[in-house]
Amino acid sequence: MTDIRPALRRCTLCADRFALTATAHRPNPVVWFQPGARILIASQAPGLRVHEANTPFWDASGKRLRHWLGVDEETFYDRDRVAIVPMAFCFPGYDAKGNDLPPPAICAKTWRAQALATVPDVRLTVLIGGHAMRYHLPHFTSVTKAVADWRNWPEGVFALPHPSWRNTGWLKKNPWFEEDVVPRLRKAVKDALDD
Ligand code: SF4
Repeated sequence: MTDIRPALRRCTLCADRFALTATAHRPNPVVWFQPGARILIASQAPGLRVHEANTPFWDASGKRLRHWLGVDEETFYDRDRVAIVPMAFCFPGYDAKGNDLPPPAICAKTWRAQALATVPDVRLTVLIGGHAMRYHLPHFTSVTKAVADWRNWPEGVFALPHPSWRNTGWLKKNPWFEEDVVPRLRKAVKDALDD
């Protein structure tokens, strides 16, 4: 199979779109996957800090996500074990309120199927946020419903809210997530890494 990563790193499909945002940044695809990974983090899109560091989840969201997964930084960033494939590989920019824009749909349309085909040994898929859930889960309606429906997830799939600080209120309102889902997630992560 052709290795798409060199072409993906050079992708500039969204250059005009990004140039019109407040940050007027250039595309910088954060490519963090390789064959052999056992866990797939299906995430949304890099934030500004990740764009600058060129490393996925290089922010407070990453700390919270690693806590939920029960893994340290070394394990999380080991591409032999963990693949991080977002719905868009570049920082999309900010909207007028200072929130991250949604991942450009053209990215998943162009790259996602090929990127996922690069990691055929995945045992556990962790879906983060509504965009990834919409792509991967049949009958997706809302993040809260998808996360609450954990007993009906397909085998080897976990659906998580985004670990951003913006979801701290959601976590307070839904304590069952950390009580019920996180312990199961940690066990599934350990099993997938030990497999
Ligand atoms: S977001 Fe995706 S499609 Fe757009 S420039 Fe980056 S890699 Fe290319």
